[in-house]
Amino acid sequence: MTDHQSTYAIIGGGISGLSAAFYLQKEKPEASITVFESSARLGGVLKTVRHGDFLVESSADMFVTQPAAAIDLCKDLGIEGDLLQTQPVDDRAFIGLGKKMYPVPKGLSMMVPTLREPILESKLLSDEGKTRFLSEDQVEAANSPADESLKSFAVRRFGIEAYEKIIQPMVSGIYTADPDKLSMHATMQRFVDMEREHGSLITAMENNRDEGDRQASGARYGMFRAPASGMETLIESITTALPQVTFKTNTMVSSVAPKHNPARGVGWTVDKEFFNGVILATPAAAAATMVVETDPKLANALSGISTASSAIVVLGVSRADLKKDFRGYGIIYPHVDDGQVIALSFSSNKFAGRCKDDQVLIRCFIGGAMQSELVDLKDDQLLQIAIDQLNTSVGFKGDPIFTDVFRWKQCMPQYHLGHLDRVKEIEELVNGHRGLEIAGNSYWGVGVPACVASGKLAAERLI
Ligand SMILES: Cc1cc2nc3c(=O)[nH]c(=O)nc-3n(C[C@H](O)[C@H](O)[C@H](O)COP(=O)(O)OP(=O)(O)OC[C@H]3O[C@@H](n4cnc5c(N)ncnc54)[C@H](O)[C@@H]3O)c2cc1C
Repeated sequence: MTDHQSTYAIIGGGISGLSAAFYLQKEKPEASITVFESSARLGGVLKTVRHGDFLVESSADMFVTQPAAAIDLCKDLGIEGDLLQTQPVDDRAFIGLGKKMYPVPKGLSMMVPTLREPILESKLLSDEGKTRFLSEDQVEAANSPADESLKSFAVRRFGIEAYEKIIQPMVSGIYTADPDKLSMHATMQRFVDMEREHGSLITAMENNRDEGDRQASGARYGMFRAPASGMETLIESITTALPQVTFKTNTMVSSVAPKHNPARGVGWTVDKEFFNGVILATPAAAAATMVVETDPKLANALSGISTASSAIVVLGVSRADLKKDFRGYGIIYPHVDDGQVIALSFSSNKFAGRCKDDQVLIRCFIGGAMQSELVDLKDDQLLQIAIDQLNTSVGFKGDPIFTDVFRWKQCMPQYHLGHLDRVKEIEELVNGHRGLEIAGNSYWGVGVPACVASGKLAAERLI
C-alpha cells in the first residue's frame, strides 16, 4: 500500500460482499481492498458440492435474469456463455395435497390467474374456490396506503381457498416466510400497484397483455439461469478476477468504529485496522453487533430484521427406483395440509448435467418460518421426512444412492410488515456516517440478483 492509496474493508464474503469487492476494484483499480470473512471459505450460503456424478447445490440453485444485476455480473466476469437455461422437460411445478399432485395451472403469474380455462379445468380447487379466484376483478380495490401482509392481501383479492392451496405454497417456496407477517410492500409491490392503478390484478394483467405471464405456470422459468458447473462458479470467478484483493477468511470482525488517522484522514477501524471506507455485507444482525458501540440506534434498527431457518435434504436416487417417471421441476406443499415439507425440487429435471440420465437429484426443503423447529431434528429424522414425502408423492422404493443435509440457521431474512420503513431508517442512519455502507440480503431483496445489486451500489456509493 502506498501512502495515498485508498483502503477499503468489506465485511462478509458472501455474494453481496464479493460483488462489492468486484465493482469497487473495477471502478477504482488503484484501491487496496480487504474482504473479511468469519468462516473458512468464501461464498456465504452459496456452495456447490460434488458427490460422484451428482452436482449438488447447498442453497440457491439458480438466479433470475430480472433484475439484471446477476446476469450483468456474469457478463462482466466473462462467464455468461457458461449459463444454462431450464430444460424443457415438463416445465412446470405441481402442488401436492394429501397423496395427490395437481399441476400448477397454466397462465398463473405468481398469484394472478391470467387464463380462465386452466383454472376451470384444474381439480385443485372446489367450484366455489374457482369462482372466487376468477372473480377477483369484481372485488373492490382497497384504498389504504398502509402495508399489508401477503395473507391478508391474497385472501382479500382471491379468496381463502386459492390462498391456502396455491398462493401460500408458492410464496413459501421463495421466502420461507409466514405469509401473515410478510410485507406486500417489501416483497410484491408490483401487485399492490396493480390494484391501485387498475382496481384489480386480473384487469391489470389483461391490460398489460404480457405473453410471458400467460405462458407462466407459477414461476417464470424462462428467466432462470444457472452456471453449468454450479452456483459456486460465481464465487470462484469473482475471486479469480480479483488477484490484488486480500481475502481474510477465518476472521470474524467484532466492531467497526469511525476514526481520524492524522496521516490518512477520516476513516474507520475494523477491529484495530484502519480503512478509508467500510462495507458491511453481513446479515443485518451481525452488522448490528459491529456498530452497537458507534451507533446504538443503527444497531437497534438492524436488529429488527428477523430471520428464519431452513434445511435442505438432498436425495440422489436411481430413476428406476421412482414409481412415476416424474419430469416436472418440483412439488410444493400447502401448509394447510399439515405436512412437514415445503417443497421437493427436482434439480436434475430443472438443469442439465446435475447427474447421469438414469439418476435423479432431488432437494427437499424443510422448516422455514412456519416450522423452524424441524431444522433441529437429527439428520436421519430429516432424511426420513424427505424419503416419506417422495414416496407419498411420486413413489420411491430402494435406498438413495447418496444423501446429504444442509442446515441454514437464521440465514433467510424475513421482510415483515413495515420492512421498507425499517430499511429507510437504516439507510438514513448509515448516510449519517461518511465512509460506511451496507449490502446484503437483509434489505432490498433476498435473491442473488438483489444481493449483487446491493454490493455494486454500496461500492459505487463508497467511491
Ligand atoms: C436454502 C436457500 C435457498 C436459496 N435459493 C435461492 C435461489 O434459488 N435463487 C436465488 O436467487 N436466491 C436464493 N437464495 C437466497 C440467496 O442465496 C441469498 O440471499 C444470498 O446468497 C445471500 O448472500 P449474502 O452475501 O447477502 O449473504 P451470505 O451468503 O449470508 O454471506 C454473508 C457472509 O458474512 C459472513 N459474516 C457474518 N458475520 C461476519 C463477521 N462478523 N465478520 C466477518 N464475516 C461475517 C458470513 O460468514 C457469510 O459468509 C437461497 C437462500 C437459501 C438459504
